[in-house]
Amino acid sequence: MSKTITLLIPAYNEEAALPHLYERISALADSTKNYSWEFLFVNDGSRDGTLDALKQLAKKDERVSYVNLSRNFGKETAMIAGLDHIESDATVIIDADLQDPPELIPDMIKYWEEGYDDVYAKRKSRAGETLLKKKTSEWFYKILQRSTNIPIQVDTGDFRLLDQRCVLALREFRESQRYTKGLFSWIGYKKKEILYDRDPRVAGATKWNYAKLINFAIDGITSFTTAPLRIASILGFVVSLFAFAYIIYLVVRTLLLGVDLAGYASMMAVILFLGGVQLISLGIIGEYIARIFNETKQRPLYFVEEFHRAKSAK
Ligand code: UDP
Ligand code: MG
Repeated sequence: MSKTITLLIPAYNEEAALPHLYERISALADSTKNYSWEFLFVNDGSRDGTLDALKQLAKKDERVSYVNLSRNFGKETAMIAGLDHIESDATVIIDADLQDPPELIPDMIKYWEEGYDDVYAKRKSRAGETLLKKKTSEWFYKILQRSTNIPIQVDTGDFRLLDQRCVLALREFRESQRYTKGLFSWIGYKKKEILYDRDPRVAGATKWNYAKLINFAIDGITSFTTAPLRIASILGFVVSLFAFAYIIYLVVRTLLLGVDLAGYASMMAVILFLGGVQLISLGIIGEYIARIFNETKQRPLYFVEEFHRAKSAK
């Protein structure tokens, strides 16, 4: 029996991109006949014709599976929903908008056959993205790496081939505010990097905006490391030390030179500064409490409306 490979494709309002994607991945699968393929789409509550398009595809192609989620849950949840439905020897996670070129997959398979468990594609360039997006993502990765010992994969997305044992490992993480990029690093196993040029999206519009990106960055940091709490403590400690020294100086000066009433400006400066530091620290603590709150609810991650399994995967 040939080994099975699943392409896991989260799709949210990708009606326009699907035909292009299907063409490229079926060409790939046709040219790599010594594996049995499954195309597993996760329809993440699309509001356009994505689901109908998937049903059509499933009718005409035995390799097509789909998981239809009960509403839009976001890409992170769509990915775990897909992983939960995979039994193949290897899985390739790939975006529906063809920003990840499927032509890279044979290379990934080659390394997988050599014994690597997680072959991930690292972006050399990011066509079609603004300088601001590139810069902010660069800073984000830097901050994240500084705050943890687990090696962070810079400029790497979710486009990667995972051995079955990585998939089984990822399934064990049932946290609701997921940061999958961090989890790939967390689980370890034998990793291999390959370089590629990221293409602009083939059709449709990106679902990202800056508000989402900032939220994602905060989620990434707070789900991955508690370093901000430590920084808040250290900052508090240092500020207190200075405050204490300043208090001693004031007391001594008052005892020696008597009371003077000047100093309104310096007093305001200190009060405002301390107020700011306290508010930031409270905010950081609040972020973590919010995470605890969300995780302790132990909610299910998603609900499946319909699951269709490809014949090729049975
Ligand atoms: N996606 C999803 N659910 C969402 C948003 C996005 O499943 O709520 C999918 C989307 O269909 C695509 C992938 O996640 O396959 C990446 O999304 P997008 O291209 O919008 O992000 P970008 O490439 O701009 O970071
Ligand atoms: Mg995209």
